[in-house]
Amino acid sequence: MPTVFDKIISGELPATIVHRDARVTAFLDIKPAAPVHILIVPNKAIATVNDIADADAALIGHMIIVARDLARQQKIAEDGYRLIINCNAHGGQEVYHLHLHLLGGRPLGPMVTRT
Ligand code: AMP
Repeated sequence: MPTVFDKIISGELPATIVHRDARVTAFLDIKPAAPVHILIVPNKAIATVNDIADADAALIGHMIIVARDLARQQKIAEDGYRLIINCNAHGGQEVYHLHLHLLGGRPLGPMVTRT
């Protein structure tokens, strides 16, 4: 079953795309949690971090390089930002196509709520 992100990558669903290359697509999160909230998504379908192969190491590194460049473009690099990958139920993953959240534009508070 294609995920919503497969459909964005193929152009079947609209999104505000801010970067696209042979390996990744980056677009604005539809429900932003911060003034800057971009999702960096590999073009090939990898469901979760658990499904990353050793051979994907360069692709995963590229996702972070793209996040770094987008942070500079969005002018949040100096103030700082957060990169998040959620995995499976306890991680809060909603879309089962690997994605890196780039969040910034305001102080983001603690990483997780302490219970
Ligand atoms: P996660 O909980 O890490 O799986 O995050 C999924 C993210 O995808 C959430 O922040 C959603 O707001 C976002 N999202 C879901 N559908 C879309 C969409 N059609 N376009 C952009 N972002 C989306």
